[in-house]
Amino acid sequence: MLILGREQSVFKLSPRNTPVASAPSGETVVFETFDCYSNRLTREDQELVSSGWDFTNPATGPLFVESAEPGDILRVAIVDIALDSQGAMRVGPGSGALGHILQEKKNKIIPIAEGKAKFNDRLSFDVSPMIGVIGTAPKDEEIPTGTPGPHGGNMDCKRIGEGSVVYLPVNVPGALLAMGDVHALMGDGEVVICGIETAARITVKIDVLKGLSLPLPMVKAGDHVMTIASAKTLDEAAVTATEMMHQFIHGALGMDLQEAGMLLSIMGDLRICQIVDPLMTVRMEFPLWILEKYGYSML
Ligand code: CA
Ligand code: CA
Repeated sequence: MLILGREQSVFKLSPRNTPVASAPSGETVVFETFDCYSNRLTREDQELVSSGWDFTNPATGPLFVESAEPGDILRVAIVDIALDSQGAMRVGPGSGALGHILQEKKNKIIPIAEGKAKFNDRLSFDVSPMIGVIGTAPKDEEIPTGTPGPHGGNMDCKRIGEGSVVYLPVNVPGALLAMGDVHALMGDGEVVICGIETAARITVKIDVLKGLSLPLPMVKAGDHVMTIASAKTLDEAAVTATEMMHQFIHGALGMDLQEAGMLLSIMGDLRICQIVDPLMTVRMEFPLWILEKYGYSML
């Protein structure tokens, strides 16, 4: 099986990145990933000096996917996310929604074993591994791995976990897929800009879908399909994610715009992915069973 080492990572998703490996459609590939601090935060008493995003959010890759051409869709099935034996968190001034309150810095090292993350002496949680950063190269711009967008990137969507499928645009030949920033656990919002950040070993199956139109990025997870949108404000992101799903239902189910709007208003759930990255991210979740009732199945 093709394995991409974590040293082979990028801090921008860019059409100019040099691929570190290539694989055909249908291949299963392992991405070994650093945590979002490039594995530099290992002790609670450690001073971690950063000037912005310089070592934050390395994404392993990019992988050149053979036969992927602009206009195609890259289907990435998340087969497995194996976590490291510990995770890390850090807060301080500027930490997201609470950055104005958290004047003192604090680091936390969180042991992970047997599917549990030990937060403190009283609290342990079942892990729910997810991928914070997953994306393809934009068409002609370079986007830092800290920023989400139509190409994917730092979406911090907690539904991108084991068993889910991520649909991403192919903007350049080979797609140039990269991923990283795995969390053992994260709440919707990611309010202080970190989940339980951990290195990981992600196994994915990649497929190139041709002649298909979907509002991207899209995710299938559990009983839902979801559209994901990022914008300067949550309000804008919410409207865009809703428009994307509305258009999808209109086209995929052949439902008129009015009926599709009503359906979305009663069966769609708007949820916050994150509010702390350079753009805010929202997802619109919609039940898969309704698609199936209309004879539409997600590839
Ligand atoms: Ca992130
Ligand atoms: Ca993170």
